[in-house]
Amino acid sequence: MVPELKNSTVHIREPERVREIISSLRDGGASKLQVITDFDMTLTRFACNGKRSPTCHNIIDDSKLVSEECRRKLKDLLNTYYPIEIDPSRSIEEKLPLMIEWWTKAHELLVGQRIQKNKLAETVRESNAVLRDGYKDFFHKLYQCRIPVFIFSAGVGDILMEIIKQVEVYSSNITVVSNFMDFDENGVLKGFKGELIHIYNKREAALRNAEHFQNLENYSNVFLLGDSLGDLNMADGVQNQENILKIGFLNDKVDELLDKYLASYDIVLVKDETLDVVNGILEHILQTVSSSRNCLDD
Ligand code: C5P
Ligand code: MG
Repeated sequence: MVPELKNSTVHIREPERVREIISSLRDGGASKLQVITDFDMTLTRFACNGKRSPTCHNIIDDSKLVSEECRRKLKDLLNTYYPIEIDPSRSIEEKLPLMIEWWTKAHELLVGQRIQKNKLAETVRESNAVLRDGYKDFFHKLYQCRIPVFIFSAGVGDILMEIIKQVEVYSSNITVVSNFMDFDENGVLKGFKGELIHIYNKREAALRNAEHFQNLENYSNVFLLGDSLGDLNMADGVQNQENILKIGFLNDKVDELLDKYLASYDIVLVKDETLDVVNGILEHILQTVSSSRNCLDD
């Protein structure tokens, strides 16, 4: 029913179940569907021309916004904690305090750099940020069919927003929940707003956004995209959830993590730098006459 599901990157443990979920999402149509997606390494690429693509944090780490000494310290943190983030032999419970440590130390370093708000746009323009191939069709389709999109990221909200604005896909159906910078009256970074979001507290962060999900109580079908096992909790705040399709990008430590991903995500996309499969499924779900009533013309 979706030709892209035959792509070699697609791994599914229970094909029949996936078929049923997709068919329920299609029956529910555009008026019931909401998309909840992670950002770094889910909407953005993991690698490009053999080189790692930057996360929101890495864009700052690699920029002129920080001193050489600070960059070295941030790189040391990345080299220490990223291997822990993806370590298949450690449990989430074991990783959790270490992830909090990583985010806290990195944010403290950034606050020490007196980063200026008015330099962020230029920093993103000069960065190597890249969204996955097919991102234009993805965002366009969701906007056209008025599907609410919740981008839920443990990255840096200001950088994320700047990326999606610069590639001209930001629109009124998108809500971003992330770590937003807090600036003083001179536009200098003084901290981060609200509670820290890291990769393993997305459930708590989702529940804090109860009002958002309350407003979407008729959107009982969820299309979830993530790349970390922590992303599986992103839909925990959804009210009246009927059907959920979980699609996970597995980018790193594939052999060691594939079984775990297959046990948790309905569809696992292995080393797939595109949104082709995602777009193929969305196209199929939104193809019906009842859905098209929800959608604007091109
Ligand atoms: O958008 P998402 O929730 O995926 O953002 C989290 C990602 O940011 C993590 O996968 C982690 O590798 C990355 N990160 C980083 N530098 C930090 C903290 C997190 O690159 N200081
Ligand atoms: Mg991610």
